[in-house]
Amino acid sequence: MSFTRADFDQYMVPNYSPAAFVPVRGEGSRVWDQEGREYIDFGGGIAVNSLGHCHPALVKALTEQGNKLWHLSNVFTNEPALALAKKLIEHTFAERVFFCNSGAEANEAALKLARRASIEQFGENKHKVLAALNSFHGRTFFTVCVGGQAKYSDGFGPRPAGIEHFEYNNLESLKALIDDDTACVIVEPIQGEGGVTPATQAFLQGVRELCDQHNAILIFDEVQSGNGRSGSLYAYQDFGVTPDILSTAKGLGGGFPVGAMLTTEKLAKHLAVGTHGTTYGGNPLACAVAGAVLDVITDPAVLAGVKAKAERIRSRLLAISAKYPVFQEVRGMGLLIGAELNDRYKGRARDVLALATQEGAMILMAGPDVLRFAPSLVMPDADIDEGLNRFEKAIAKLVA
Ligand SMILES: *Cc1c(COP(=O)(O)O)cnc(C)c1O
Repeated sequence: MSFTRADFDQYMVPNYSPAAFVPVRGEGSRVWDQEGREYIDFGGGIAVNSLGHCHPALVKALTEQGNKLWHLSNVFTNEPALALAKKLIEHTFAERVFFCNSGAEANEAALKLARRASIEQFGENKHKVLAALNSFHGRTFFTVCVGGQAKYSDGFGPRPAGIEHFEYNNLESLKALIDDDTACVIVEPIQGEGGVTPATQAFLQGVRELCDQHNAILIFDEVQSGNGRSGSLYAYQDFGVTPDILSTAKGLGGGFPVGAMLTTEKLAKHLAVGTHGTTYGGNPLACAVAGAVLDVITDPAVLAGVKAKAERIRSRLLAISAKYPVFQEVRGMGLLIGAELNDRYKGRARDVLALATQEGAMILMAGPDVLRFAPSLVMPDADIDEGLNRFEKAIAKLVA
C-alpha cells in the first residue's frame, strides 16, 4: 500500500496545500519521506512537537496508557487527567483546569467562561469581547471572528455580535474601546500566526491595568507561546503579568491532540455542571502524554536550553543575513523566532520554504513576509547547525 501527494487532491477537501513529499517517519528533529530523504525540522508541526518526534518519554507514556485505558467520557474522571491538572496548577497561577482537544476549543472555553462570568456578575450587557488586530485564536466560528484577520473569518455569513478589535502593542487603541460592558480582553503574549511579534512589557502591563479598572477578564492565548517555547513554562511568566484565564494546546501534547484552559477558582465556579463540555476533553491517552511532556519541560535545564538554542539560531540567522541581505528583522521570544524578509524579498516566504525543503530543512512561514522557526525545545545543537547550513544554501539560491 503506497499513496502519493497526488492522492491528496483526489481524496481530501482542498483547504490545505501540503508539500510535494510525504513524510513517513520522524526521530528527534529529523524526518524522513517516502523516498528515504531526510529533513531537519525547524517547524515542529507548527510549534506542536515540543520535544521533537517520537521522544522516548512520550512513546513510553502513550504505550503504557494505551495498554491500560483509552477513553471513558466525562461521566467518569481518570487518573492521567487529574495528574495533569495538578501539575499545571503547581506550575502556574491556575487553580482550576478544563481539558479539551485543540487551541480553538481552549479559546472557545475561555471566551464562553469570560462572557458567562461577566453576565452572571454584572448583567447581560457585559458581553463585549476585545481582541487584537492580526491575532489568531483558532478556526471555530466564534474564535475565528474573535481573531483579527478578516481573510480567515470572511465569507461565512453573519458573525457573532459583540466583538471589537484594537491594535496590538497600542494601549491607546485598546483604551478607546474598553468600557464597563467589556467582558474580556484576549491577547497573545507573542502574536504567532500574525508574524511572530512579541508584546511589549508596557503593553501587557497596561492591558492588565485597564482590565482591572473595568472589571474585564484578561485572557492570554498561549496556544503557541506556551509550554516552554518562550523559555519559561508560559510566556506570561517572562512578562510577570498574570491573566485570569490562559489557553494552551499545541506544544502541551508534544504531537498528541490536547488543549487546556487554566483559570482561577473564582472564575471557574461560573462553569457549573452542564454549562460546557466536550466528549474527548481529558482523554486518558492525551493527558498521559501531556503529563510526560510537562515532566520534561518543567526541568529547569530544558528551559535554560531553550534560551541557549534560541540564541544559537538567532545569531546564525543574523550571520546569514549579513552575508546575504534578506532579513529586515529577526525577532521573537525563545524558540519562537520570526525572520522578516526585507523589501526586496517581501512576499516570498513561500518560495523560501520550498527552497529550504529542497535542501532538506523544514521551516514555517507566518504570513507572506515572515519565516518562522518553532523547533523542538530539545533540538540537538548539531542538528541546529546542520539544519541552518542547509537553510543558508536555500537563501544562497534565493538571492542567486
Ligand atoms: C494554533 C493557534 C490556535 C488554534 O489552535 P488549534 O489547535 O489549531 O485549534 C489558537 N491560538 C493561537 C495563538 C495559535 O497559535
